[in-house]
Amino acid sequence: MSLLAAGKVNLLNYDHDGLVAFFAELGEKRFRATQMIKWIHQEGETDFAAMTNLSKLLRVKLEEIAEVRGPDVVMQHPSNDGTHKWLLRMDDGNCIECVFIPDRGRGTLCVSSQVGCALNCSFCATGAHGFNRDLTTAEIIGQVWAVKHRLEQDVTCVEKKITNVVMMGMGEPLLNFDSVVPALNLMLNDNAYNLSKYRVTLSTSGIIPAMQRLCEVSDVALAVSLHAPNDALRNVLVPINKKYPLKDLMQMCREYFTDKRRHITMEYVMLDGINDQPQHAKELVRLLQGVPAKVNLIPFNPFPMSQYKRSSLEAINRFRDVLIHAGVHTITRKTRGEDIAAACGQLAGDFQDRTTRRQRNINKQQLVESEAAG
Ligand code: SAH
Ligand code: SF4
Repeated sequence: MSLLAAGKVNLLNYDHDGLVAFFAELGEKRFRATQMIKWIHQEGETDFAAMTNLSKLLRVKLEEIAEVRGPDVVMQHPSNDGTHKWLLRMDDGNCIECVFIPDRGRGTLCVSSQVGCALNCSFCATGAHGFNRDLTTAEIIGQVWAVKHRLEQDVTCVEKKITNVVMMGMGEPLLNFDSVVPALNLMLNDNAYNLSKYRVTLSTSGIIPAMQRLCEVSDVALAVSLHAPNDALRNVLVPINKKYPLKDLMQMCREYFTDKRRHITMEYVMLDGINDQPQHAKELVRLLQGVPAKVNLIPFNPFPMSQYKRSSLEAINRFRDVLIHAGVHTITRKTRGEDIAAACGQLAGDFQDRTTRRQRNINKQQLVESEAAG
């Protein structure tokens, strides 16, 4: 397809390989891709005319056929504890949230991969809203791009640098694989965000075939949303477990670790009286035998209409102690940004569904078909 016929191409959609292919179509050499990545992601430049190391002719051509268009920042909420929540508006009017969490020299950005989520975990606000649509690569990396350049200009923010990215916002990243992978590539790219593979974490509810594919194309750290030590309980909390049960998930995690010794963290949300008893902890120890993962205990973040309560501090500590005594490296996650509904699993409240009913039906149909095919 000719680039001219396709309308303006948003260059935020491309990682290095994508840009190499784009420039090849224009008869340009590979190094243009690196130049463009630096302009877009390091400098935050959106105006081709200002990209002075490109030839005049190329700049004119780019103005005709391409653009660099990130999401609009419509709101920024600072929290009492230093966390910032950003509301970003996409082209179709849908808004998504992402959260910046500064902590002792570290700046973690929590990004979304979908508008909503289809997987309906019973403790998650995003799941309760249902699925709207996948984000494009431009919209995923656009969150990092928009926040990075805003933070640099914002005099009220003391900690300005994004040192870590976690895909723990809205959506299941591995159900949007083709858009997520180029965004991960850009996070790791030396000429874009230059983050180490230990500082980019993809969180998944355990989509096993996509975990396998991810293993082949990316080295990022993995967080697996476990939340229960047996299938009966996990089927209720994380319904996708019926399709990808624990035995297969644990086998996949073993492979993920053995191959290149990647990092895996098991996430375990602490729900009062549901999964937080000492017998659950002992069962978890048995489940994790042979999986050298660390465990992250996440105090449940309540949201309106949620059916669960957060475990008491005593229950969390008791649970943690059973794991630690059995030699499992365990930490309890600090809850941050609760006063602005920016904590884990709370990113859903403000998103506006601007997708037409017809498009929503198409999205739903596609999802059903892909589930049936998978
Ligand atoms: N869909 C992916 C990534 C987004 S959710 C996944 O499920 O892993 C990111 C993390 O937040 C997951 O571990 C998820 O289980 C957790 N989470 C969701 N709702 C939560 C809540 N209300 N309180 C605490 N953690 C929650
Ligand atoms: Fe989706 Fe993750 Fe929420 Fe489950 S926890 S509904 S997979 S976003």
